Amino acid sequence: MNVNLHQISEKSSRFEFSLAAKDLSKLEDRFAFDSMICTADLVRKQDAIQLHGSYTVVIETACDSCLEPVSIRMDQEFDLILVDEETYAVPESDVEISLQSEDVDFYKGQEIHLSECFEDQLLLDLPFSIKCVEDCEGICPECGANRNSESCHCSEKSRNNPFAVLGDLES
Ligand SMILES: [Zn+2]
Ligand SMILES: [Zn+2]
Repeated sequence: MNVNLHQISEKSSRFEFSLAAKDLSKLEDRFAFDSMICTADLVRKQDAIQLHGSYTVVIETACDSCLEPVSIRMDQEFDLILVDEETYAVPESDVEISLQSEDVDFYKGQEIHLSECFEDQLLLDLPFSIKCVEDCEGICPECGANRNSESCHCSEKSRNNPFAVLGDLES
């Protein structure tokens, strides 16, 4: 989804589009989804373009701990200031001062690549650690049982061995 600068005025214009996982080149393979519904409101502000974005997506992935499938629903909003790479490169430009506290991204030439803006935002928003439930017990490293649904006795066995055997001999 590309928007030409001529399409953006001082009155907010809205662009709606959807992205498929295959459109996102930076997303790791372990995250899958059918469609990411995106809405972008763009306004021209002097030397910069203000983007207010929102998106909804349901990501299918696996729990980091037990590897069971997990879906994560994300409804997110974000604000971004887009500036012309060349304008920003000019030292002591006014743009630099007014942008300090905001998230800034750059565009080159006459087009804004909205898909990339949304992809980058999704990567930022993805949780660092993915758990099926907050206190997922994970998989037993010894027998491979999913400790959320089965109880194995591996930890007890290793605690009893081998001294329990010695104890039996002595008595
Ligand atoms: Zn889990
Ligand atoms: Zn076990």
